[in-house]
Amino acid sequence: MTTTRVMQVTGAGDRLELAERELRSPGRGEVLVRVEACGVCHSDAFTVEGWMPGIEYPRVPGHEIAGRIEAVGEDVVPWQPGQRVGVGWFGGHCGHCDPCRRGDLISCANGQVPGIAFDGGYADHVVVPQSALASIPDDLGAVDAAPLLCAGITTFNALRDSGARPGDLVAVLGIGGLGHLGVQFARRMGFEVVAIARGTGKEEQARALGAHHYVDSTATDPAEALQGLGGAATILATVTAPDAMSAVVGGLRPRGRMVVVGASADPMQIPPFALIPGSTGVVGHASGTSKDSEDTMRFSVLHDVRPTVETYPLERAAEGYARMMSGDARFRVVLTME
Ligand SMILES: [Zn+2]
Ligand SMILES: [Zn+2]
Repeated sequence: MTTTRVMQVTGAGDRLELAERELRSPGRGEVLVRVEACGVCHSDAFTVEGWMPGIEYPRVPGHEIAGRIEAVGEDVVPWQPGQRVGVGWFGGHCGHCDPCRRGDLISCANGQVPGIAFDGGYADHVVVPQSALASIPDDLGAVDAAPLLCAGITTFNALRDSGARPGDLVAVLGIGGLGHLGVQFARRMGFEVVAIARGTGKEEQARALGAHHYVDSTATDPAEALQGLGGAATILATVTAPDAMSAVVGGLRPRGRMVVVGASADPMQIPPFALIPGSTGVVGHASGTSKDSEDTMRFSVLHDVRPTVETYPLERAAEGYARMMSGDARFRVVLTME
């Protein structure tokens, strides 16, 4: 029996622990991936803390998986052993539900998320459906690729789908795991970029990442600051504090949209009158499909977008996870496998 290492949680709220598992062969339509790096995402808390009902334990978290195909199951086309691949939040679609039949694969009613529906990338190996695979460009290392598969695609896709056009004022609320990538993408997509964060500690980094303007939301009303710059066509809200989101809606220009990607279960309070006069809006954005992940990685290589990461070896996943949850990581935590 061949075994593989995983870092699993045996129940909601339990600590991540090392375990040896039997290495299973990929079934029909599945691919066995040797993991080289896996990002640690705030949404891994769904699994570790048990914030999402219905998760079966023990479960291995991780949906920012970068590695190499080791074996393919029956009916896998055109993927081959040896190819470098990534797997993000999009862990496969059913192909027969209404959203799938309309071509909206990320909205699949039976969509699967690695680390939630099946064991994810805090492991030396993972078995995934072939539809979850994204090809990693040659010029992108596994450690850099991993965060692009969730934090990257989420911000890249939200910005390119936002309707903002080159030259438009685009604000990124929150300079953390998502926001530090959002600023880079926004700059390279040709927007005038405003970074908004609490305090001045992140100003230098935000400017270095590409922000034209920096707003300290503890010193200035961020909505007024945006209006002073002409009003934002798009505000990409990457924070997980709904109050901080409500506070910037007034910074939209007429017809502008706040695109929410920071995941929180807490309610957001916005007076209807803040939306009506300028016909502004607040919308959510789900990350994207495996093909969108490929686009994200290709764009990142073409335009030199890279995550800033702190790495931990797989067996120290609990420490890496705690570091991510503390909010102090600069900016993304990535697990590496030897
Ligand atoms: Zn994620
Ligand atoms: Zn479906």
